[in-house]
Amino acid sequence: MSRSRVVVVGAGFAGYRAARMLTRVARDTVDVTLLNPTDYFLYLPLLPQVAAGALEPRRVTVSLSGTLPHARLVLGEADGVDLDERVVSYTDPEGGRGTLAYDRLVLAVGSVNKLLPVPGVAEHAHGFRGMPEALYLRDHVTRQIELAAASDTPQECRARCTFVVVGAGYTGTEVAAQGQLLTDALVKKRRLPHGIRPRWMLLDIAPRVLPELDQHLSRTADNVLRRRGVEIRTKASVKEATKDGVLLDDGEFVDTRTLVWCVGVRPDPLVAELGPPLERGRLLVDPYLNVPGHPEVFACGDAAAVPDLEKPGEYTPMTAQHAWRQGRVAGLNVAASLGKGERRDYRHKDLGFTVDLGGVQAAANPLGVPLSGPLAGAVTRGYHLAAMPGNRVRVAADWLLDSVLPRQAVQLGLVRSWSVPLDTASPELARVPDDSHDVPDDSHDKEKADQGGRPDQGATS
Ligand SMILES: Cc1cc2nc3c(=O)[nH]c(=O)nc-3n(C[C@H](O)[C@H](O)[C@H](O)COP(=O)(O)OP(=O)(O)OC[C@H]3O[C@@H](n4cnc5c(N)ncnc54)[C@H](O)[C@@H]3O)c2cc1C
Repeated sequence: MSRSRVVVVGAGFAGYRAARMLTRVARDTVDVTLLNPTDYFLYLPLLPQVAAGALEPRRVTVSLSGTLPHARLVLGEADGVDLDERVVSYTDPEGGRGTLAYDRLVLAVGSVNKLLPVPGVAEHAHGFRGMPEALYLRDHVTRQIELAAASDTPQECRARCTFVVVGAGYTGTEVAAQGQLLTDALVKKRRLPHGIRPRWMLLDIAPRVLPELDQHLSRTADNVLRRRGVEIRTKASVKEATKDGVLLDDGEFVDTRTLVWCVGVRPDPLVAELGPPLERGRLLVDPYLNVPGHPEVFACGDAAAVPDLEKPGEYTPMTAQHAWRQGRVAGLNVAASLGKGERRDYRHKDLGFTVDLGGVQAAANPLGVPLSGPLAGAVTRGYHLAAMPGNRVRVAADWLLDSVLPRQAVQLGLVRSWSVPLDTASPELARVPDDSHDVPDDSHDKEKADQGGRPDQGATS
């Protein structure tokens, strides 16, 4: 009997787990191919710690071929799916084209930065959805502190060490919390002139931080951040971004060179082009994670609108917790569709949430129990270690080192501003020029700044 071909597109929480499940339960009858632009699974919840220099970048990655030895890894980005011919087309990292034929398809392509139609934001803000953006932010923040320390005027110094984060969901809140600790550590080594201190602002249009999470988490995060001096502006938004700063909706202009855009995510644009019905950009599936009308196609994670059987009428939120468990069900249901086992519906009750606020602080409500302070910090780190599919010892070792050694105040400058645009369908990849002449116009100024020289004009991003 010929073996069935299963193609899993995307190796994040959902796709990684689906491929792992399939290679466990149906390895003898199924060939699993995993298509992903990178050779690693990225543990996104720890990315803010990479941006803050608490964890080295490779710690939050898990090798795909190292941990999924029975799946075939194809490096590339899917750019089309022919649902009638059952073929996925993709571009590999060197620009080559390829196709993958399938008998079953799992779409788990995740999400990308959400844009809002605010003038100047696409040009001057950066998102926080992938490794390149985290590496960029760490270097950029370090560089701003270095440039601020050497600046001629208090105005320039203040602008360079003012950091504005828009969106106080868990991503924005963690980025501001971790970023503030990083800049505090940086200025301890290198005092700023005129008695200036780094200033972090966290803005949200909602009336509280972590608006989509439980009140306890919100209160705890608010207290910790305010105590550390982070300016929290609720019911506030950005009207315009320029290279010199941001104009808030109340008319205040904030001089800054840093605008981090964390207003949320939208499903990967790939799913919008497929044809089947969408729910707010997510591919609509049934409770078995099947795309209606296409019994051979499954979707899960951020890219799929999965009915929440625990909250009838709603769809499951875009969280790692759901994506990871949906991946398992997708794997089992693909196997069931090929005659191995019984299919099951997706049902999961939230087990609570953890928000790492840096240092020993966190806000958590595991199984509904409200925790804060160092206990929440320990639970949060324990949770992440347990949830990571690999690299736990290295992560724990970095945490240990970070608790006893000062942060390294160096910027490698390898990821440039233009290579991490906010508006991208591929936040997991840094943009590269097509050839040596194809460097965007602004690169020369930014490069000078990257090398510690003074750009001809300030760059907000
Ligand atoms: C900074 C940050 C912190 C977070 N913290 C938490 C948290 O604490 N708790 C929580 O529950 N959730 C958290 N989340 C949300 C959580 O990470 C996502 O909900 C989860 O990653 C969704 O899983 P996924 O598999 O759908 O997508 P992802 O994990 O994003 O995986 C998508 C995969 O698809 C690949 N891909 C994309 N496009 C293509 C393509 N065209 N072809 C091939 N492959 C493609 C990507 O490279 C990636 O490997 C956080 C998110 C961010 C950004």
